[in-house]
Amino acid sequence: MSGVTIETDATDNPSEAVEVLRRVFGYSEFRGRQADIIEHVIGGGDALVLMPTGGGKSLCYQIPALVRSGVGVVISPLIALMQDQVDALHALGVRAGFLNSTQDFQARRQVEQAFVDGELDLLYLAPERLRLEPTIQLLERGKVSLFAIDEAHCVSQWGHDFRPDYLGLSELHERWPDVPRIALTATATKATHGEIAQRLNLEQAEHFVASFDRPNIQYRIVPKAGANQQLLALIRTEHAGDAGIVYCLSRASVEKTAQFLCDNGIKAVPYHAGLDARTRSTNQSRFLREDGLIVVATIAFGMGIDKPDVRFVAHLDLPKSVEGYYQETGRAGRDGLPSTAWLAYGLQDVVQQRKMIDSSEGDEAHRRKQSRHLDAMLALCETVECRRVQLLNYFGQSGEKCGNCDTCLNPPESWDGTVPAQKLLSTVWRLDRERNQRFGAGQVIDILLGKRTDKVVQHRHDQLTVFGIGADLSEAAWRGVVRQLLAQGLLTVEGDYGTFALTTASDDVLGRKREVMLRRESEKVARAAVAKPKKTAAVDMPAEAAPVFEALRAWRGAEAREQGVPAYVILHDATLRQIATLMPKALSDLAGVNGVGETKLARYGQGVLDVLAEFR
Ligand code: ADP
Ligand code: ZN
Repeated sequence: MSGVTIETDATDNPSEAVEVLRRVFGYSEFRGRQADIIEHVIGGGDALVLMPTGGGKSLCYQIPALVRSGVGVVISPLIALMQDQVDALHALGVRAGFLNSTQDFQARRQVEQAFVDGELDLLYLAPERLRLEPTIQLLERGKVSLFAIDEAHCVSQWGHDFRPDYLGLSELHERWPDVPRIALTATATKATHGEIAQRLNLEQAEHFVASFDRPNIQYRIVPKAGANQQLLALIRTEHAGDAGIVYCLSRASVEKTAQFLCDNGIKAVPYHAGLDARTRSTNQSRFLREDGLIVVATIAFGMGIDKPDVRFVAHLDLPKSVEGYYQETGRAGRDGLPSTAWLAYGLQDVVQQRKMIDSSEGDEAHRRKQSRHLDAMLALCETVECRRVQLLNYFGQSGEKCGNCDTCLNPPESWDGTVPAQKLLSTVWRLDRERNQRFGAGQVIDILLGKRTDKVVQHRHDQLTVFGIGADLSEAAWRGVVRQLLAQGLLTVEGDYGTFALTTASDDVLGRKREVMLRRESEKVARAAVAKPKKTAAVDMPAEAAPVFEALRAWRGAEAREQGVPAYVILHDATLRQIATLMPKALSDLAGVNGVGETKLARYGQGVLDVLAEFR
């Protein structure tokens, strides 16, 4: 393949970076702090970059690697994605290769030789390879222009992505003191930030913390009421034919949900750690390559998935932390087009997660930490404020009411729930004090509603003075009350059966020392997904451009299949939309479109113009 001819003299001239951005990547300008970061690394400085998913981290090391003399070495834990990353770079005319355990001897030799000969711009390595002496010797035989440490939060021992091999990366600096290091992550809390800096020996590096806002993602959290049907409604009314990720907590619900979608005529595949490696890799690769496929997955899926046109991320179970939620939802809309992050959450989620924390391994400190994570997640779910503001605050950043989340779009009313709260808490109190019994949500709500179920009669709960005192609210409303009391810490669940217990704060409510404000849930919202008309992803394109866009997509699909690469490696949706809107007549016009660099213009320019010719 032909390489891009790049001036290889190290220089701190920022215009060279802009020149590469335009010529190789076909983008007109840098985003956010990209320019500062790139300039800093080109100048030989170390950097720690915190930027949300889709923020444009890759360019921050790819451009310095192209500008500086030598080969940029990228350390990434995502072996299964290296081939795609390298294919995407080849499509841009960048000389890239990888070394990992999936290769045969011959392929490895070739890449090693290219590295030593300086015929690569970028070399991708799995962190475990740096533990091997032959790898170190290889790197010493060539010239390294920079080390990029991708997914740097993998060094954090508390995070769920911890990779022990990342700890060894702190030694890079000792061996190659003159080679700049740039560590990148989309995980943003202060604690993780500090831990990365310390463990990777980057305290002296310049830290670049971008805004964590993802304005094109619409955040919505709805009460769970038949989650599968709600999901189906969401897909049918707003995301028909779109690619999406659905997260479930357990493998069993992953399988069931994927099957449910297929039974309803929606293309979906499962992904979880219990599937064999082959099925997993086939399903992942189909997701990357096919248009409009849905993956139903546990959190084992998604890190490093750089498919730009994931239009929605749905959670059918409550994520364990705001950090996890943010990472997962962040996989939607990397291309900047409108996307949805949708979460259905119910009482059972809270009960289940409390149970999981109580029975989890690890010491008390670890459990307390998990508990704090859950509390923050619940607070996000039950807030009456803008979800985005709440998310940004969580990451130590500020924001304004966004106008693009459910609480901004349909401001929830809050209501004085003190009396229902007292009724519920006193039922729990009576069961405990008068009968020395503990029950979970179902029984307590049945008592409040005055239902003579078998279990109620058997325990003679219809004799309690509180029996039937809550008949003025529906069962769904009571479940909402319970959930919110749990979220506010006015009630707690304990033990294997998730039975209710009072907290110290409950006493204040029972003693009329505090009011309880609750969020009103309309019954309608509880039943269906918010089926309000939403602007679709096509907002930025006039109606007459739609058929052109579809034709371009079909052409792109054929090209991608022929080359065996994901469609977005050829050209992104956002680029195709712009082409369909502008209808360029000549190659020189096409060159001005964002995302069409030199190599892509040469390879696909005529193909694109041929498609457009049909519409003139
Ligand atoms: P991250 O790794 O931070 O999640 P990527 O590096 O994958 O993000 O970039 C996200 C998307 O934004 C990609 O499709 C990329 O091509 C695009 N992008 C990055 N920088 C720019 C830019 N300056 N102008 C236009 N598009 C950009
Ligand atoms: Zn908002």
